Amino acid sequence: MNQTWKSLAPMKVKIFSWQLLLHRLPTRSNLARRGVLEHSSQEFCAWCSTEVESEAHLFMQCTVAVEVWGEIHSWLGITTAVPGSVSLSFQSFAVPFKSKKDWKA
Ligand SMILES: [Zn+2]
Repeated sequence: MNQTWKSLAPMKVKIFSWQLLLHRLPTRSNLARRGVLEHSSQEFCAWCSTEVESEAHLFMQCTVAVEVWGEIHSWLGITTAVPGSVSLSFQSFAVPFKSKKDWKA
């Protein structure tokens, strides 16, 4: 998690990443746990409506997220599987980049 703060990303991105890694984003599952949502049916993902909207689902497992990651990987010219968790995804991008395009991404 220390690498998040050392990155060149804007501060708002670092704060968002920090909240994501600590499971502090206002996902529907977190809102339900805090009593903000009244019905359990409101916990389901806004994109696919098939799974509870957790951080892992929203950013890694949802079919929409998988499509977005596929487009990003295609743009970067890499072939890889989407990591199974948010923390693994952060670790996969912590490797040194070869080109300026990779670094900006
Ligand atoms: Zn979904």
